[in-house]
Amino acid sequence: MNKRHVSLFVALACLCCVTGRINGQTPATPGATENVILITLDGARIQEIFGGLNEDILASTLKEDQKLEAQPAYTRFWAPTREERRQKLMPFLWQLVTTEGSIAGDRSVESVVQLRNRLWFSYPGYAEILLGEPHDEEIKSNDPLRNPYTTVLERLRERLALPREKVATFASWSVFNAIAEHVEGSTVVNAGIEPVDSPDPDVRLIDGLQGEAKPPWAGIRHDAFTFRLAMHHLMVARPRVLYIAFDETDDWAHDGRYDLVLDAYARIDSYLRELWGWLQAQPEYRGHTHLLITTDHGRGKTRDDWRTHGQKAAGSEDVWIAFASGRLSQRGVWKGGPALTTSQIAATLAGWMGVDWNADHPGAGRPIQ
Ligand SMILES: [Zn+2]
Repeated sequence: MNKRHVSLFVALACLCCVTGRINGQTPATPGATENVILITLDGARIQEIFGGLNEDILASTLKEDQKLEAQPAYTRFWAPTREERRQKLMPFLWQLVTTEGSIAGDRSVESVVQLRNRLWFSYPGYAEILLGEPHDEEIKSNDPLRNPYTTVLERLRERLALPREKVATFASWSVFNAIAEHVEGSTVVNAGIEPVDSPDPDVRLIDGLQGEAKPPWAGIRHDAFTFRLAMHHLMVARPRVLYIAFDETDDWAHDGRYDLVLDAYARIDSYLRELWGWLQAQPEYRGHTHLLITTDHGRGKTRDDWRTHGQKAAGSEDVWIAFASGRLSQRGVWKGGPALTTSQIAATLAGWMGVDWNADHPGAGRPIQ
């Protein structure tokens, strides 16, 4: 902002205070026109986010008579440099973080993002994101145990006095029914293969299909259904706080299906493109929506342990965060800078909505600047 803009801004701000006082209105709540969208890709490694396809890993998954160069994943995603490979894997994400946002966590340029929890698997990771600090003594399994603390999603609904449908979580993993809320039903949560109560024929179709097209994992639905239901809720209920939690980047990795892991990244990238494009066409969302994309944990670094994660797989603590928000002027890949942790996400999301998370969570990470 240059000086002339600053004085104009100050003048307008004073005018608003004056008119507010004359009309006897209380000044608008900070963040009253803002929206926030959180997106997670379960177990999405920094190696693929910043480097795209890893040739060694793809080669290690092939049978002796299979040629690397003949693999569809190779022809689709391979390129000589890591910059070209990541562009091929997630072209929209790279467009977004270059022109309207930024991304942190590329260790090759000294940008570090790590987990603060010491467990490096899903529930502890999501708890750190939604609570702003680790609770390793209490949250130490992926069992569907009710979150012992109020999440940032619930707190935003309460502080902004929002109707229930204005804060919503759509997740592929059923355990989000327990993770997303301390008080069941305080926000909208639809997770796993869970029916959606709607008279809308599109929703009823998706609802039927999600149960028919079951993936090979218990308690999980395909990300396609999660995304379609989230988009429908976005269009109909116009939430101010939306969380979409994708899962297939983790599931296919556990199964050793590197080709389908890459496919999941690329598909989620197309979802991001569709979501951002829709938001830009809506006056109440365009220029007023803050997007944060991240993961709950990394995974092993080598061709022997990329499938897994946790304390025994070194590298699982290395993660990344992408931003698209008018509050952050940085563009492209963070180079150097302070080391971040995912415990800063709750305070960052709350801050974008005008809420100070650290005021009653002194142990939580501070907002990312
Ligand atoms: Zn996992």
